[in-house]
Amino acid sequence: MNAEQQFATVTDRAWVDADDLGPEKIVHLHRAEAGLRAIVVIDNVAAGPSVGGVRMAPDVSLSECFRLARAMTLKNAAAGLAHGGGKSVIVGDPKMTDERKESLVRAFAAAIGDLNDYVPGPDMGTDERCMAWVRDEIGRAVGLPRELGGIPLDEIGATGLGLAACARAAEDHSGVRLNGARVAVQGFGSVGRHAARFFADQGAVLVAASDSQSTVADPDGLDVAALAAHKRDTGNLAGFAGGRTLERDAIIGIACDIWIPAARPDVIDAANVGRLDTRLVLEGANIPLTADAEAALAAREVLVIPDFIANAGGVICAAVEYAGGTERTARETIEEKIGANTAEVLEHAARTGRTVREVATEMTVARVRTAMGLRRRF
Ligand code: NAD
Repeated sequence: MNAEQQFATVTDRAWVDADDLGPEKIVHLHRAEAGLRAIVVIDNVAAGPSVGGVRMAPDVSLSECFRLARAMTLKNAAAGLAHGGGKSVIVGDPKMTDERKESLVRAFAAAIGDLNDYVPGPDMGTDERCMAWVRDEIGRAVGLPRELGGIPLDEIGATGLGLAACARAAEDHSGVRLNGARVAVQGFGSVGRHAARFFADQGAVLVAASDSQSTVADPDGLDVAALAAHKRDTGNLAGFAGGRTLERDAIIGIACDIWIPAARPDVIDAANVGRLDTRLVLEGANIPLTADAEAALAAREVLVIPDFIANAGGVICAAVEYAGGTERTARETIEEKIGANTAEVLEHAARTGRTVREVATEMTVARVRTAMGLRRRF
């Protein structure tokens, strides 16, 4: 993709579907001398300064950034954090050289210095080191390295820990017991790799995992530690001796009890949702299912726990870090908050016959509106 095409993608729509919750600000950043094209969306700050990740990918867009910022508003409110929702995207290949990445991330940080109601964190394509560069430039960022007082959320697997707590709290409603459950994980990065580990710790069996190149599967179970070592050493899941290598999207049709998307948005849509063969979907990725796909699963009585409930572990960890808490507090808070939220929305959904997303959204939006009512409105 050349620079002009990239710019066309990043500015794909002049505006987004704003409503009374937000977005409060959309900022397009263009620093030609630094090769920087980026967008920041600050969706809602009623509960406090917005927290949300910095995503780096060649194909990011304004609509993706806004939808992710809104997901953060809901996620932070659902988790009861003193933070609103925001998100940013930088156009770029995350596999660029370290030197180039540092200069791009530092240019991005300098450009958002005045956006004090946005606290950046790591997301796809960025990591703790990137957040250290951001903090070095502007004095604020979460998801910092341990040496800077951070609780490295991707190193400890905060989101994977939360997904396991979610599945545990859902056991009675989903009928899927973690012990012995067959789990398939799409994406084997910071979320997917650790989710596989935490589920295996609870007695679940990892029957398949995928990355951007391929799926590796074994109905009798993959050795999670050996698979992670293979990925670390070779950069790919393909060729793992303890399972069969299949094409990338084979993960979608793997028979399992729990299917965990932990890669890109919109990976399940109306066209491929029929291939999913599972009883429970835990949205580890943000917005991994289109609305059509979620409706189709609801009609088949496949339980879907939405992203802003299931994958809040990372941002809860970041909020604990921002408040000066310890790693132990972060782990306890993740398990407690995600467990309690999951139980609450599942009970409500069962009582009312509505989908988990419907009741979770209603509960969370009510919390955001309450916070908005407590802010100055003139
Ligand atoms: P990551 O970059 O560490 O890992 C992404 C993984 O997905 C990689 O293994 C990559 O190979 C794989 N992948 C990419 N495209 C794929 C495709 N089409 N099919 C299968 N696999 C594919 O990213 P991450 O931090 O693990 O984040 C994954 C998702 O989870 C994103 O949607 C992110 O927004 C969301 N999320 C992350 C966190 C967190 O704590 N890191 C928290 C909440 C939500």
